[in-house]
Amino acid sequence: MKKLDLLLAIAVGFCFACQSGKGPDKEVVAAAMQPSEPGPITLVVHGGAGNITKENMTSEMETAYHEKLKEALNAGYAILENGGGSLEAVSAAIVIMEESPLFNAGVGAVFTNEGKNELDASIMDGASGLAGAVAGVSTIKSPILAARAVMENSEHVMMAGKGAEKFAREQGLEMVDPDYFFDERRFQQLKRIKDREMGNQGMLPYNPSRQDKFGTVGAVALDQQGNLAAGTSTGGMTNKKFGRIGDSPIIGAGTYADNATCAVSCTGHGEYFIRSLVAYDIAALMKYRDMSLQQASNEVVMNKLQKKGGSGGVITLDRQGNISMVLNTSGMYRGFIKEKGSPRTFIYRE
Ligand code: ASP
Repeated sequence: MKKLDLLLAIAVGFCFACQSGKGPDKEVVAAAMQPSEPGPITLVVHGGAGNITKENMTSEMETAYHEKLKEALNAGYAILENGGGSLEAVSAAIVIMEESPLFNAGVGAVFTNEGKNELDASIMDGASGLAGAVAGVSTIKSPILAARAVMENSEHVMMAGKGAEKFAREQGLEMVDPDYFFDERRFQQLKRIKDREMGNQGMLPYNPSRQDKFGTVGAVALDQQGNLAAGTSTGGMTNKKFGRIGDSPIIGAGTYADNATCAVSCTGHGEYFIRSLVAYDIAALMKYRDMSLQQASNEVVMNKLQKKGGSGGVITLDRQGNISMVLNTSGMYRGFIKEKGSPRTFIYRE
């Protein structure tokens, strides 16, 4: 009986409040439902994280990295400035880095244990939540464009190996001979690692953190419509075996975008990024724990991931145009642009 009274009182009170206009403040509700004004157009890129130190770098190499990152930033920014979408800007910036042997993506990708290049990429649209990915491909010139084709022109999210290549060909994407990706420096890297394994009776455990660096490429962008996008492209990790696939083509691990939270592209030791769902975890901390972009990125990379022994970094961007570039390694090729002609690029942790 008492319970019923209470329910009645609540019901009557609610009706009264509604009639007298004292219910939930309609204006407050409306304001909360309005998407907040998006921030300025922004593009952030990375070219891989790892053991990158000044001692191991020549000034010519430094300049080459800064220039290539700036070229990618300027190209993507020009698209955003002309009203192009964030997906377009992300793709354009990544294609430039895929075509450069400086990075471990496209030309210059690292070699598998069998001396091949097997490429992975993914892309996600923060407005629609759609995503596309390809994994273990060897004849698609631009894996990021193939990932985008999967997202836009198929009912699937991820395609792998021969099937992905068949799809890319049918889509009219540029196909190449697997040799197109060959880079002597990367090949020597594989030989060094294999020699070390041999010296250890072939028993050296697979330990990618021994690599000089990782080198994946990625981009996140915010366009004039306030839409976020993220993309990542990689050759994976040197000496990878048995069709190994890393985090880069896995939505939620290496790449994630959601207009309600942020866009993320990761680089680092993929196995750890997959187990920790790094990209989604950053978005989830913002969504469910109300953390800022910076807090969430720091928490995941410098605390959660590091505690598990995972090395690498992330670039993140929210709808207000806040950016964050967090790394727990000694370096990460990275940069951002918020103003025409003013890209800023960095290499070391600083
Ligand atoms: N995350 C990539 C992978 O594990 C490697 C990298 O970022 O360099 O395949």
